[in-house]
Amino acid sequence: MTGELIRPAWAEIDLGCIRHNVGEVAGHLQDGVQMMAVVKANGYGHGAVQVAKTVRECGVNWIGVAIVEEGISLRRAGIEGPILILGVSPARQAPLIVPHGLTAALCTYDGAEALSAAAVAAGTTVKVHVKVDTGMGRLGLLPHEVIPFVKRIRELPHLVVEGIFTHFSTADDCDRGYFHQQLHLFQQVLAGLDSEGIRIPVVHAANSAAAVTAPEAQFNLVRAGVALYGLQPAPELVALDLRPALSLKANVSYVHTVPQGTGISYGRRYLARSETAVATIPVGYADGYSRLLSSRAEVLVHGRRFRLSGNVCMDQCMIDVGPEPVQIGDEVVLIGRQGDDEVTAMELASIMGTLHYEIVCLISERIPRVYVG
Ligand SMILES: *Cc1c(COP(=O)(O)O)cnc(C)c1O
Repeated sequence: MTGELIRPAWAEIDLGCIRHNVGEVAGHLQDGVQMMAVVKANGYGHGAVQVAKTVRECGVNWIGVAIVEEGISLRRAGIEGPILILGVSPARQAPLIVPHGLTAALCTYDGAEALSAAAVAAGTTVKVHVKVDTGMGRLGLLPHEVIPFVKRIRELPHLVVEGIFTHFSTADDCDRGYFHQQLHLFQQVLAGLDSEGIRIPVVHAANSAAAVTAPEAQFNLVRAGVALYGLQPAPELVALDLRPALSLKANVSYVHTVPQGTGISYGRRYLARSETAVATIPVGYADGYSRLLSSRAEVLVHGRRFRLSGNVCMDQCMIDVGPEPVQIGDEVVLIGRQGDDEVTAMELASIMGTLHYEIVCLISERIPRVYVG
């Protein structure tokens, strides 16, 4: 099923799972609220183009990316409709944003001027979403700066203030205090604009976690990322019915029996206690399977769990399979389901002391993506 010629280590992406997850998130939205599918970082490692096409078929009308280049590559692949660049772009990239019809997040006047000038030069208009920092401390105007800024940029030719947004830093936290403080500040900014008679049509704040835990934060658009890929956005607050779309699989590349006392992998951190069979898996840290997983992560073979024996190498890792009759070519699941068992991205994340988000983003370009469903 993996094609005859691709390397025997691949990520299988089930687009049916992504469609299911879109439906699950949509089920939490109030009437009239639209969804943006966030496909930055190559769709959290799943493939931005395929994910964008899939969510578009499900009626998702907005796409979000982090940087200009990601927006351009989607346009080149034929993805139409609104694409918002969530990060702030340097003024010098304005001539790239405008001709590709990308929508820019904005928090500097220089940026606005550059976009306006590029739009004038191209004989078109550019749409922008003003970013407000209500307490994430990353990007955006402080609440009291918003009204004067919007008034000023509205004077610029060929520039349309289509949206306004903010981002929560603790939407997945059990302690809701800071989240509500950010929400309140954003609501105050919107009320201020309203009282000045300034109407901005598209208003958004919620990531996946906020979208499914706080309906009052949905405004008229939510920016869903992690949940669409089937990873729980707020595991301590809600258990959504999500299906992880990505599996990382490989075929055993070699099996041999080594004598008692053989040190397996660099540094001899695992020693064969008796003569035993070692299976080699052609996936290593250069594929995004971190060396921090050494001796700790487990993989599935024949529906059984095997712990890594010693260190993950750049291109390979090993398991002591003992008496299990593992053969060259047998399927290994490093992330995902096999038989009745499953290795989750969350499980690997907790070994590494990070988030499931990072596990899927780490899977490198060297791993071919195979689409099913
Ligand atoms: C990445 C990102 C999102 C998506 O967040 P998830 O937690 O993956 O749903 C939303 N908004 C902004 C600004 C982002 O950078």
